[in-house]
Amino acid sequence: MKKLIGVSGSSGIVTGKAFLYLEKEVPEITRFSIPEDQVDAELARLKIALDKAIKEVKALSEKAANEMSKDGADIFLAHLLMLEDVDFHDNIFSKIKTDLVNAEWAFFNASRQLMQVMLASPDPIFRERAVDIKDVSSRVLDHLLSVKQTSLADLDHDVILVAQDLMPSQVLTMNRKHVKGIVMDIGGATSHTAILARAFNIPAVLGLSTATSEILDGDTLVLDANIGEVVINPPRDELSKWEHLEVDYLLKLNEDMQTRDLPAVTKDGHKVLLKANIGIPEEAESLQRYGAEGIGLFRSEFLFLDSGQVAGEEQQLKSYNKVLAAMGKLPVTIRTADIGGDKILPELFSSKEINPLLGWRAIRLSLAMPEFFLAQLKAILRSSVNGNVKIMFPLISGIEELEEALVFLEEAKNECRRMKQPFAENIEVGVMIEVPSAAMTADILAQRADFFSIGTNDLLQYSLAVDRGNEKVSYLAQSSHPGILRFLKSAIQAAHDKGIKAAMCGEMAGDPSMTALLLGLGLDEFSMAASSIPRVKRIIRNVTLDECRKLAEELLGGISYIGNDVILKKWMTEKFPKENG
Ligand code: PEP
Ligand code: MG
Repeated sequence: MKKLIGVSGSSGIVTGKAFLYLEKEVPEITRFSIPEDQVDAELARLKIALDKAIKEVKALSEKAANEMSKDGADIFLAHLLMLEDVDFHDNIFSKIKTDLVNAEWAFFNASRQLMQVMLASPDPIFRERAVDIKDVSSRVLDHLLSVKQTSLADLDHDVILVAQDLMPSQVLTMNRKHVKGIVMDIGGATSHTAILARAFNIPAVLGLSTATSEILDGDTLVLDANIGEVVINPPRDELSKWEHLEVDYLLKLNEDMQTRDLPAVTKDGHKVLLKANIGIPEEAESLQRYGAEGIGLFRSEFLFLDSGQVAGEEQQLKSYNKVLAAMGKLPVTIRTADIGGDKILPELFSSKEINPLLGWRAIRLSLAMPEFFLAQLKAILRSSVNGNVKIMFPLISGIEELEEALVFLEEAKNECRRMKQPFAENIEVGVMIEVPSAAMTADILAQRADFFSIGTNDLLQYSLAVDRGNEKVSYLAQSSHPGILRFLKSAIQAAHDKGIKAAMCGEMAGDPSMTALLLGLGLDEFSMAASSIPRVKRIIRNVTLDECRKLAEELLGGISYIGNDVILKKWMTEKFPKENG
C-alpha cells in the first residue's frame, strides 16, 4: 500500500480501479518518395485509414444524437461530410500517384492547405470550420501512423481517471457517467479542471506530481478528495474501511440537502443569496435540487471550449434560453467569454504567448474581436426577454476597459433595436473584481457598474503571484492572507458606498470555512458549485451577523495567513465541532 498526497480539487470519497490515461505523441509527419510499384499499396493504406475514420465518426455522431443536443451531433455530421468529400480525396490520391509521395504527407499537406484557406477567410463560419479539419485530419493520420489515442468519450466502465493533465474540454467531453474520480499529476484547487470536476460532482485529487508514474492501470485506488489523499492498492481490511467512509460521506451529503428549501439567513435575521456557478447549460437543470437561488456565474466560454468552436449568435441564444428555461424567474448572470489563460481555443485565438495568464484573455480578447463580442452581447440581450438576465465582464483591470465594453453593449443594443429584436432595456451590468487594480479602484468602477462579483481564483493568482494551475506554488494561494482580506474589504465597501451589491463567484465563496468571515465582511451574494450550497447554508443559519463581523474585524487585524487560519479554525471548531471533527 502506498499513499500520495496532493490537493483536493473536488471533495468526496471514492474507491475504484485506476484507468491510466497517457496521451500518445503523434510522430512528426515527414515527406518521403515511394517507388512507382508501391503506389497502389499506398492508396489502399489511405483508403483503409479513411474508412476507419468514417466508421468512427458515424458512431460518434449517433452517440451525440442520443446523448447530447442536435448541435453536438451536427459537429460530427460536418466531419463526415469532409471525410467523404470526393474532390478532397481525388486531390490527395492524384498527389500520391503523380508526385510519388507517402500517403501521410499527401493527406497532411492537403488538410493543412485547406485549413489555411479556411483560416484566411473573412467569413467567421469558414474560420470556424478550420478546427473541424484539424480534428478530422488527426483522426485519419492516427490510423495511417497506427497511433492509438484513447478517447475519454468512449469509456464504457467505471474508472478513476489518472492523468498527467486534463484540459477543461476533455473533462467536458469525457464519458462522465463512468468517471468516478480524477487523479492528476498537475493542477491546483482553483484550476478550471478542478472547477469542472466540482460542477460534475466528481471527487478529484490534483497536483500529485508522480501519480502517473506510481499508479498502474487497473490498480485499486482510494481517493479521499476531502483531504487530497490517494491510497494505492490498500489491503482488503483497509479498503472496506474506506468503502464505509464513502457511504458515510454520501449520507452526510444527503443530510445537508435537507436545508434545500430553507432561506440562507443568519440567526439574527440577515439574509444573503446563495447561487450556483455553471459551465454548461445542462447543469442548470439540477441546480434547484441544491437550493440555488439563481446562477451567479455562467462561464459562457465553456460553450466554445466544449465543441472547440466559436458558437454563433443564434447557437448561443439557444444555450442561454435553455438555461433561462430551467431557472424560471431566478436571476442568471452570464459572464462574457473568458477565453485565454488556461482556456484556449487554439485554432481560433492562438497567439503563442509566453505568459498567457497575463496575456490575451477574457475582456481583452473580446474587445479585440468586435464581431465575436457583439455576437455574444446580442445573444445575451436577446435572451433577456426570457428570464432574469444580468451581464458580467471578466478580468476588468480598470475603468477604460469597462467603458469600452459598455460602448460595445450600447452598440449591441442599437443593433437589436434596428433588427426589432426585443431585450430588457435595463439589463444589469456587473464587473468581476479579480485583478488587483480593479479591487484597488473598486470605488471608481462602482460608478459605472450595477454590481460586483469578486473572482477570488484570479484575485489570489494575480495578487499573490501564484499560478492557479501550478501545484508547486499552490501552498501560497491562501484566502486568509491579510492582503486578500484587505482587497475583499475595500471592494465590498466600495460597492456598498455606491449602493450596489457585492457578490463573490470565486471558489472561496463555496468554502464553508470562509463563510462566517465573508458574512462579516458584508458579502451579499455567494455563488459556488451547486453541491457546496447546502454546507454553506448550514453555516449561515447557525451564526449571527454580529459575531461574524467581530470575527472579520479580528482577522483584518491579523498579520499572517497562518495566524488568521489558527483564529478561523478555533472559531469554527467552537461553533461547529462536528464540521472539523
Ligand atoms: C475567479 O477568477 O474567481 C472566477 C470566478 O473566474 P474563473 O475561475 O472562471 O477565472
Ligand atoms: Mg477569473
